[in-house]
Amino acid sequence: MRIDLHAHSDRSDGTTAPAEVVRAAREAGLDVVALTDHDTAEGWDEAADAAAGAGVTVVLGMEISCRHAGRALHLLAYLPDPTYEPLRQTLRSILHGRDQRVPTILANLRAVGIDLDEEEVRRQASSAAAVGRPHVADALVHRGLVGRREEAFDRYLSPGRPGYVSRYAPPVEDVLSVVRGAGGVSVVAHPWGRTDPAALQEDGLAALQATGLAGIEVDHQDHSPQQRSALRAIAADLDLVVTGSSDYHGAGKVDHGLGCNTTDPDQFERLLQMADEASRDAGRRTPAVVHP
Ligand code: AMP
Ligand code: ZN
Ligand code: FE
Ligand code: FE
Repeated sequence: MRIDLHAHSDRSDGTTAPAEVVRAAREAGLDVVALTDHDTAEGWDEAADAAAGAGVTVVLGMEISCRHAGRALHLLAYLPDPTYEPLRQTLRSILHGRDQRVPTILANLRAVGIDLDEEEVRRQASSAAAVGRPHVADALVHRGLVGRREEAFDRYLSPGRPGYVSRYAPPVEDVLSVVRGAGGVSVVAHPWGRTDPAALQEDGLAALQATGLAGIEVDHQDHSPQQRSALRAIAADLDLVVTGSSDYHGAGKVDHGLGCNTTDPDQFERLLQMADEASRDAGRRTPAVVHP
């Protein structure tokens, strides 16, 4: 069983439709793929409908933008009830923050001589519920101002670069309880990725676990072999679920091909059991895992 629990479609900043992601998962030899777009469940129906034809089990999830200790932190939420009003409200606030940020990014870029039209960015994000810096990057690529997304981030969009603008993200503790209330389970995405590892050590992860965190995404391209070992040890110590995943973004992210990291079937089973319990505790009917 090959299981990949983190993939993006063009409903956020991936570059292909949800059904395409599911088909590509099959081509990559996966048995299970989770659709985890940033801050939206928009792609769920399409991905679920594609499961049977592709012969792939689809897990419905999302990657929710949070903050922790003054930094950005991404939380993977699996199988929450998307109609749960506090979850809807949380996502609405985040998407609103994403929308509002675009003109500010463009004003900052104008100050360094790059005159992009908001319409050009909106066009790049036309299928997306969640608009973000990758779409600004795509507009820069489209103009021929940079060669690819990575270059746009390095020159203009990463923290410390002229086009960087932060945006609203709720405290991770709040989001953990909202996901629990929605009958879902939470896994912290690439905790030692682009953020400072010092912000989230074992004590911090234990505190999040007390608020409902179920697991850690250990095997991720942003983590070195040493970081993976250290995170695996922490997960074992705290009895947290360990996941591995690609963080696939289609053509939008190199070296993140579907299945480049995978999740152990036993860990996946445990996560599903925890989701079942969460759904019972919350009294919410959560979306079933879609089997082919
Ligand atoms: P945003 O959500 O608008 O703040 O943009 C963050 C997203 O941009 C992340 O989730 C990644 O998908 C992507 N991203 C961040 N840094 C880079 C980078 N250096 N190169 C390519 N994509 C990146
Ligand atoms: Zn992304
Ligand atoms: Fe992320
Ligand atoms: Fe991601």
